[in-house]
Amino acid sequence: MGAAAEHASRPLTAALAAVALAAAGTLAVGAAPAHSAGCAGYVGLTFDDGPSTAHTPALLNALRANGLRATLFNEGQYAAAYPAQVRAEVSAGMWVGNHSYTHPHLTQETQAQIDSEISRTQSAVAAAGGGTPVLFRPPYGETNATVRTVEAKYGLTEIIWDVDSQDWNGASTDAIVQAVGRLGSGQIILMHEWPANTLAAIPRIAQTLAAKGLCSGRISAQTGRAVAP
Ligand SMILES: [Zn+2]
Repeated sequence: MGAAAEHASRPLTAALAAVALAAAGTLAVGAAPAHSAGCAGYVGLTFDDGPSTAHTPALLNALRANGLRATLFNEGQYAAAYPAQVRAEVSAGMWVGNHSYTHPHLTQETQAQIDSEISRTQSAVAAAGGGTPVLFRPPYGETNATVRTVEAKYGLTEIIWDVDSQDWNGASTDAIVQAVGRLGSGQIILMHEWPANTLAAIPRIAQTLAAKGLCSGRISAQTGRAVAP
């Protein structure tokens, strides 16, 4: 992009940021501040497979206590079963994404089945008060042209990850913290809401990011990268 185009985009970017801040101010009641002034860059923390009454409340408490925000890729079946937890996620300043309804291997399903998995989750999250998702993470990170066709139908941006914490595979708390330490600005890490080691890692994740001048951000549906909230 040339310098002229870059300069021309600045007033619009500033205006959008102002609108976003105004909107956030009305929504994120009690959410931790973004600390944007001290952020050299942003990373996308993601936690999959919720919500649940067993794990979501503790995760949200830990994230808020440590000034972190994250994207939570919910399964539709659990959003439907635990709508209050979806609302709690939003109230805690988190963003809710679509992680399919029943967590199948989508690349082994027909387009109609994929459509059902995605559309029912869009509806379940919205009905619970989580808004209509704009981000989709296919289970196991497995995708193909058919999956992408359905994502496009629902206006969803596919989000995989740059770093896999391996928390689903028994990674230690130390290993999860070290994985976060490998994140660069704009990058996204895969974690889950259910491993005990992940919950235990939250305070040290916050310390690790702060030491690098990085903050937790939202994931842009336009770019698929982590950006300022
Ligand atoms: Zn999953």
